Amino acid sequence: MKTFTYHRAVTLDDAVGRAAGGARYYAGGTNLLDLMKTGVENPDSLVDVGSLDLDSLHATESGGLHIGSGLSNSAVANDPLVRTSYPMLSQAILSGATTQIRNMATVGGNLMQRTRCPYFMDPELSVCNKRDPGSGCGAAKGVHREHAIFGAAPGRHTCIAVHPSDMAVALAALDAVVHVTGPAGSRSIPINDFFALPADQPQRDTTVAPGELITAVELPPSTFGERGWYLKVRDRHSYAFALVSVAAGLDIVDGVIRSAAVALGGVAAKPWRVPAAEAQLVGAAPGPEAFAAAARTAVAGAEPLSQNAFKVTLAHNSVIRALTRAAARA
Ligand code: SF4
Repeated sequence: MKTFTYHRAVTLDDAVGRAAGGARYYAGGTNLLDLMKTGVENPDSLVDVGSLDLDSLHATESGGLHIGSGLSNSAVANDPLVRTSYPMLSQAILSGATTQIRNMATVGGNLMQRTRCPYFMDPELSVCNKRDPGSGCGAAKGVHREHAIFGAAPGRHTCIAVHPSDMAVALAALDAVVHVTGPAGSRSIPINDFFALPADQPQRDTTVAPGELITAVELPPSTFGERGWYLKVRDRHSYAFALVSVAAGLDIVDGVIRSAAVALGGVAAKPWRVPAAEAQLVGAAPGPEAFAAAARTAVAGAEPLSQNAFKVTLAHNSVIRALTRAAARA
């Protein structure tokens, strides 16, 4: 591992000032340290933000929820407010990693974690456009059964990696907003604008600018508290990333769907929200017919590769199952 300097920040200004000078933020370290050990990440200095006052979780005046970025994944998943008002978020977090990792990993770090594409994770193994734009994509010509079926970048900057976070998929369905502070001040980023598709910059995972620190995630009031579900499908039941996941929310009044949310995970470089499928559900009676129609719409336009066409069928069936579980929850 490359030698680096370490500084524990005591104020937000201190942290942001250090990052403006080139330091990388460090909190739980559950992803960054692994990548530093293998030489994928090589920061000269780390600024530890674990002592900052970023661990508040409370209801907002509008009836939503403020989640401090420094909270552990476990703290969020097990919070009574989250479990009752945003159950799909709790389910999503608890489906990821292990208890030990969830106890260390933070909300901010979860959002900033990098793809687990094996060709990205191991510089000895292959070229990788995400590590070194223009070098090529090892996965495109190699093993890619777990890779993207939506939003991949073609051509010279090919990248077919998927984002690994479960939490982010639920946050996408819940219309979260991510608050960041950086050298140029503070701003709020809707979650669906937070992640970047590879396009011509595969090295970028998010729209967070250099030096910006996630300070909180805010959720609006949810109508999916009673009927929300996170379904994760993977090769083994624990400690595995999603082949496909679905965050589904339904608001049903008098036997009619009044609003719906459907976001897919494991299929793209960002949580894949499908507004067309949601619009199709609104006004319909909840049931197999409506859910099947929404599922067909959700996978329309998928561009599978030679090894991952199964994901299209898997995503289709998972949407139906997640919607069915959400509808049956109340
Ligand atoms: Fe790198 Fe993306 Fe290709 Fe994986 S899919 S090898 S991350 S360019």
